[in-house]
Amino acid sequence: MFMHNKRLQYTVRVEKGDPILATLMLEQFGGPQGELAAAMRYFTQALAEDDAGRKDMLYDIATEELSHLEIIGSIIAMLNKGAKGELAEGVDEMAEMRVLTGNSTSQTEAILYGNGPALVNSSGVPWTAAYIDSIGDPTADLRSNIAAESRAKLVYERLINVTDDPGIKDALTFLMTREVAHQKSFEKALYAITPNFPPGKLPGDPAFTDVYFDMSQGVGDELGPWNSGEMWERVEDRDAQAAVDGGDGSASVGVTKKQQATLDKLAARTLSDPSADPITGADLGAGPGAGATSGKKL
Ligand code: MN
Ligand code: MN
Repeated sequence: MFMHNKRLQYTVRVEKGDPILATLMLEQFGGPQGELAAAMRYFTQALAEDDAGRKDMLYDIATEELSHLEIIGSIIAMLNKGAKGELAEGVDEMAEMRVLTGNSTSQTEAILYGNGPALVNSSGVPWTAAYIDSIGDPTADLRSNIAAESRAKLVYERLINVTDDPGIKDALTFLMTREVAHQKSFEKALYAITPNFPPGKLPGDPAFTDVYFDMSQGVGDELGPWNSGEMWERVEDRDAQAAVDGGDGSASVGVTKKQQATLDKLAARTLSDPSADPITGADLGAGPGAGATSGKKL
């Protein structure tokens, strides 16, 4: 069950209203790297988790992320507070509307959401469950969680840089720092599983686990531990990069006699004649800029 405590996890002090700054803060409210996405990611993983330690951690962090959602949502609400009253009461209409329409998301915030924190990103795109990429395997999900915490940390870093308000900077620095702490927990939880690579149960085919295909060739080819050295069999030869199974590199499928007969009919009906050079609509209607066409040399 959830229980709500009326004290925020971190005190929110906003110096003055700023509806446009509020729209930027929406990125961490209803955006892909935001707190709702984080909370739902870990909450749904916790529900399905059978390992006692990971389940406990995921519930703890999911609940903390909801508390972060409350903090960033409170920042947005405070930044919009003045504009909300003025909008609702129609005070000083023209001057205020100019502020409100300073960018399109702040306009949507005002007109559609009445300056309440909406579950949208800073461009007004509605939150979606598609932001969450859990796959139901702890080694894959923990890696994704680590990356999600990294991304959330970076978005906070950028948000800290768009405001001079010391109270907002302070609260955002707390939120940013908690993503650092969460990343450490997920790293520990990942490495508490041994082995943790590769993910899942099936082993990779040893014929291909240590091969590096140098598929992009030309100026700019670089060597490093990721593509060469003791652990890699580096394949640069173009022929050796194709049909690596030793087959002919074609695609085939078994079909019934009846299916083959209809496929043959289709092929016969749509057969192209390489000797034909028909006059087409492009030839007939050609004018300046058409380039070469049948019967008309430039
Ligand atoms: Mn968070
Ligand atoms: Mn986090």
